[in-house]
Amino acid sequence: MTTETVMDLDHKYAMTTYKRNPLEVVRAEGVRLYDPTGRDVIDFLAGVAVCAVGHSHPRYIAALTEQLQRVVHVSNLVYNAPAAKLAERLCTLAGMDRVFFTNSGAEANEAAIKLARKRGTAIAAGKTQIVSALASFHGRTIATVTAGGQPKYSEPFGPLPGGSVHVPFNDCDALTAAVNEHTAAIFLEPIQGEGGINVADDAYLIHARALADAHNALLILDEVQTGVGRTGTLWGWQHSGVKPDVMTLAKGLGGGFPVGACLAVGDAARVFVPGDHGSTYAGNPMAATAALAVLDIIGAEGLLANAQIIGTLLQERIAHLALEFPEWIGASRGRGLMIGVNVPNGHAREIVGAALSNGLLMNATSEHTLRMVPPLVLTESDVCDAMDRLKAALQQLSGTSITAIRGAVSTAISVEPGFLAGRDLLGIDDFSSKECHQILALAKRVKAGQISNTATGKVGALLFEKPSLRTKVSFLGALAKLGASGMYLGKDEVGLGKRESVEDVGRVLTRMVDVLIVRTFDPVILKGLADSCTIPVINALDDAEHPCQAFADFLTMQEHLGDITGKTLTYIGDGNNVAASLMLLAPKLGVHFRIACPDGYVPDPQVWARAAELAAEHGTKMERFSVPSEAAAGADAIYTDVWTSMGQEEEHARRMAAFTGYTVTAEIMQHAAPGAIALHCLPAHRGDEIADDVMEGPWSRVFAQAENRLHAQQAILAAVL
Ligand code: PLP
Repeated sequence: MTTETVMDLDHKYAMTTYKRNPLEVVRAEGVRLYDPTGRDVIDFLAGVAVCAVGHSHPRYIAALTEQLQRVVHVSNLVYNAPAAKLAERLCTLAGMDRVFFTNSGAEANEAAIKLARKRGTAIAAGKTQIVSALASFHGRTIATVTAGGQPKYSEPFGPLPGGSVHVPFNDCDALTAAVNEHTAAIFLEPIQGEGGINVADDAYLIHARALADAHNALLILDEVQTGVGRTGTLWGWQHSGVKPDVMTLAKGLGGGFPVGACLAVGDAARVFVPGDHGSTYAGNPMAATAALAVLDIIGAEGLLANAQIIGTLLQERIAHLALEFPEWIGASRGRGLMIGVNVPNGHAREIVGAALSNGLLMNATSEHTLRMVPPLVLTESDVCDAMDRLKAALQQLSGTSITAIRGAVSTAISVEPGFLAGRDLLGIDDFSSKECHQILALAKRVKAGQISNTATGKVGALLFEKPSLRTKVSFLGALAKLGASGMYLGKDEVGLGKRESVEDVGRVLTRMVDVLIVRTFDPVILKGLADSCTIPVINALDDAEHPCQAFADFLTMQEHLGDITGKTLTYIGDGNNVAASLMLLAPKLGVHFRIACPDGYVPDPQVWARAAELAAEHGTKMERFSVPSEAAAGADAIYTDVWTSMGQEEEHARRMAAFTGYTVTAEIMQHAAPGAIALHCLPAHRGDEIADDVMEGPWSRVFAQAENRLHAQQAILAAVL
């Protein structure tokens, strides 16, 4: 069935209660949805804040599959172990006494309202009022639209049950005025979700708690959207420390399987007696198993901390977009991975449409608010990918997709493995600017797990004349991930140029393996091997260049700084082979390059001249400084490398003296742009070229950079094989 037919059938036969996006999802994995053509869409909606552990999580699938084969549904007239375990787990985690399971958020709130009314009536006749906030949303049943503070959801359905009072959100005085002896419950969301990601002030919740206590009313917190890790804590109320008497859950709890819960503590937990309330499906074994699996995964994978860290990163990236597109993107707000973005020009729905065309799904709660509620398994690279897609959408909308820097290529580059089949990478200049962008785009797909086994059955040889940790492990790992095998040939095994001529080694290997990865001192040897081989030859560092390192470095910059076009990279230290590859790659990617180095340790003049030529071609700047703080001023990334490299050991004392004052310190980092990052290609000598507090401080992306060797090299291999 085509997507068109699916849409036609839906339009003809389904009641028209939803405005759907033009996307048919046939498969989903992690944070990505796939349409029938295989196009991937990053899911910043997560089934409306539901798919907490992402899509198709293996542990979730295994738990549900096992339960499906045992028993699906039994009714609440008998016992089932998953429901009993879930009841215990939720009560323990939330410090509650009892739970009533439901199938949805609205039903959980319906239960809470019934509970509050019954309790209130037992205390005094007429103590049945529910005080809730304007702009709140509690569901679509008659009781919950009545309690909800958005008349558009309730007005058409009158007459409504009485007893609901609405007050402006976050207004302590209004709440004080509304709560009295008739109040059965104060009913609030810790963060209003549908209402536009409005965070309740801690002081407001504290005030609500005190008012409820003073009037013997319940405090009900609707955690249907905020609960189960969405805000970076298990329950949204943990940010304020204000514990409710009744808490409702749904959405994230089942990770996609319909399940809700109404939890209560103290006398509220003893209100319902047999016959008071019920639900046929609620708490069935499948639903309870799904919720248990979600809670297990959140704990096992550290998803609460992840939501906090990645949420902060996402808000930082949104702030960058706000600087670039101030009419479209304003301030963001929220907690963890529940984020609202202000849209100053009131065209939020237009942004949603353009983002979807660029492969990002999110929604707008109004024309002024974008809502981002991605799965809690979101990674840094997913954030980068998503923000690149959002940026492409904003460029289209604002008509600024042509950048000032010549040679900058659209971030939405499509590229497939094998696009550089048979090519060598001896130095950065072997690849054009477009190809360099494409390598980085491929590396992102590699990192997202989309490129594997593209070289099954192939063989790579690593011919290494110098020691190595990262390069060896990352190349062997990258080959394995591509389905190829790799062999390591150390210095003494081959006797390159001694036991056998460079040319003969090349001619033999070319007949036996599919790619040659070489680490040698002399660029002439590397060139000799490449000339005698017909297979691709990759430079894994020689005295002239370290191109694979440079690709990993710019990938890291893209991940942490977003679009790097027009950004500045400052290198402080020896104008060595690493610096050479960086200065050649920077202009090809539209990045300005600065170097601070002592006299006598300047870059090779030929490389500098070539880099300057490339900078002129691409409209970027190349600058040399001798004062590190001047080079660092306003830079977006500060980079350094060891002062004494392999083979220079006898020069160590002289070099240490020459580089005095060139240490990348916290003070140097203070000169850089806000949000700047510190990079080092490792191994590091803490206290020499880089201070310990920079290596371990908030600027450091050094270990992400090390990891990116693997992804960048896998991309390079996937491209040339
Ligand atoms: N409460 C809150 C805070 C919600 O965000 C929602 C749904 O968006 C609901 C209740 C209703 O949940 P459901 O759609 O599962 O009935």
